[in-house]
Amino acid sequence: MSSSATLAPVSPLSDRIQAMNESATIAMAKKSRELLAKGFDVINLSFGEPDFQTPQYIKDAAKQALDDGYTFYTPVPGIPELRQAICDKFKRDNDLDFLPNQIVVSTGAKQSLANAVLSLVNPGEEVIVFSPYWVSYEEMVKLAEGIAVPLSGTLENDYKVTAAQLEAAITERTKLLMFSSPCNPTGSVFSRAELGAIAEVLARHPHVYALADEIYEYINFVGEHVSLAQFPAVTDRVITVNGFSKGYAMTGWRLGYLAARPDIAAACEKMQSQVTSGTCSITQRAGLAALQGGRASADEMVAAYRRRRDLVLDIVRDIPGFKTPTPSGAFYIFPEVSAYFGRTAPDGSTITNSMDLAMYLLNDALVSAVSGDAFGAPDCIRFSTAAADDKLVEAFRRVKESLAKL
Ligand code: PMP
Ligand code: GLU
Repeated sequence: MSSSATLAPVSPLSDRIQAMNESATIAMAKKSRELLAKGFDVINLSFGEPDFQTPQYIKDAAKQALDDGYTFYTPVPGIPELRQAICDKFKRDNDLDFLPNQIVVSTGAKQSLANAVLSLVNPGEEVIVFSPYWVSYEEMVKLAEGIAVPLSGTLENDYKVTAAQLEAAITERTKLLMFSSPCNPTGSVFSRAELGAIAEVLARHPHVYALADEIYEYINFVGEHVSLAQFPAVTDRVITVNGFSKGYAMTGWRLGYLAARPDIAAACEKMQSQVTSGTCSITQRAGLAALQGGRASADEMVAAYRRRRDLVLDIVRDIPGFKTPTPSGAFYIFPEVSAYFGRTAPDGSTITNSMDLAMYLLNDALVSAVSGDAFGAPDCIRFSTAAADDKLVEAFRRVKESLAKL
């Protein structure tokens, strides 16, 4: 026998990838696609994706870009016209002054977040993540060999973490704070006063940076969007991430960006130069047209998202055991569902946690949702409300019926 045959099989995969979880949103969406392909009438409320088409004027700009020959590599941080248009957008919408060398355009806000985390976090440094948080934050921190420190908001405060909680959580090893507002998964929106208080805490701790994920900026039902970077005491330490996926219904185009102090932006550009280069040339021309068109198309979609939120809340408020705060933005509801833990399903199995409940709803109601574990909130479950009204009504009718069997 050769010596290699006697060795125990060793996985070729790195510790890094073995420690990483698959994105729970993507995993659930994959499961529902598989069931759909087998002929089951699954309503997929697991994936957070606008169901609207990209506005026509943006598609037209992409066609024009192809005809005009925009088929070459672009500068890594984006074409100059787009970086300038992003600066103009920050001025117009957020009263923030950036120069083009502070903007890095990427293949989606997801890459912008990863660029920032990998550029800032050293092994062993702590990253405070406001919880519930978007699924990828914790995994990105792990990838950077940092330590994610989830800090949970309470249901009574719409899951918003307070400045006092933040103050108590900061240590000398804290490097970064990560959060989204409007928040995925809760839909909570930080007010000016709340963010101002957070900025005051950060101002007292100059070693802490903040990654503000504003991808749902336009999908806001309360009106005022506030950026952490607007508070002068911390402007230099805030990395603001945004993109086109949600506001312009451009998920498949892969276009996002960050704005940061020039040295941090340059680091993110260096990271991207070694991993992916500049994002698609045609997509960037489309993004330029999107921004030049302002936010009128987003406002139309937001009216639909608000109507659907109200429609869904009306139904779920009648579901016993669901505790559902009213989302102020984004397109999710995030009920607390622990009243169902310990109950028995018709097949005799016990629902012990939100993962069991999500799987039960997928199999019994044919509605896919995402368990709260992946968002740092194991007592909750996330449903997307970015689906047609009749689909939503049918989905929650089925959910209610299935839950009544427990
Ligand atoms: N941040 C949050 C909070 C999100 O919900 C998403 C959507 N997946 C992203 C970032 C990434 O968006 P993009 O499609 O621009 O990569
Ligand atoms: N933002 C979406 C979600 O949270 C897309 C999925 C993803 O990119 O992980 O479901």
